[in-house]
Amino acid sequence: MDIHAISTALSSIKAATDIAKLIKDSNTSLEKAEIKLQIAELISSLADAQIEVAEVQNILLSKDKEINELRVKLEIKSKIVWEKPYYFLICDDEKDGPYCQHCYDTNSQLVRLQGGGKNEWFCHSCKGRFRDKNYVSPNSRTTRGHW
Ligand SMILES: [Zn+2]
Repeated sequence: MDIHAISTALSSIKAATDIAKLIKDSNTSLEKAEIKLQIAELISSLADAQIEVAEVQNILLSKDKEINELRVKLEIKSKIVWEKPYYFLICDDEKDGPYCQHCYDTNSQLVRLQGGGKNEWFCHSCKGRFRDKNYVSPNSRTTRGHW
């Protein structure tokens, strides 16, 4: 779909208008069969115009959707901060998150990470596992406990 549909719709509407003018301006000598033919062409042009305007409507709806998606992305971009190894959103000076770095960088998707109890987080979307700088391996704790 492209915006070219508007030109096509306008051509069909102009053709319909020309036919209507021809019928209006014709004198009574125009044969009944000829009038019927002109009206059939008029109806056909109007039907074409209707289809093309419907296509324009779809194009506009699709553009609106795209604009809204871009607005959301732009808003996120203005609020997202990188704090290795996660992203956070800053909303009214409050930090929300963390969000998955992989999902945001590859698909622009904000996926909230789960867990975090032991400074280890999981992404249910990409199955990524993230540990922050305070993470302590359970093995090293055990090992330390034995010393
Ligand atoms: Zn992820």
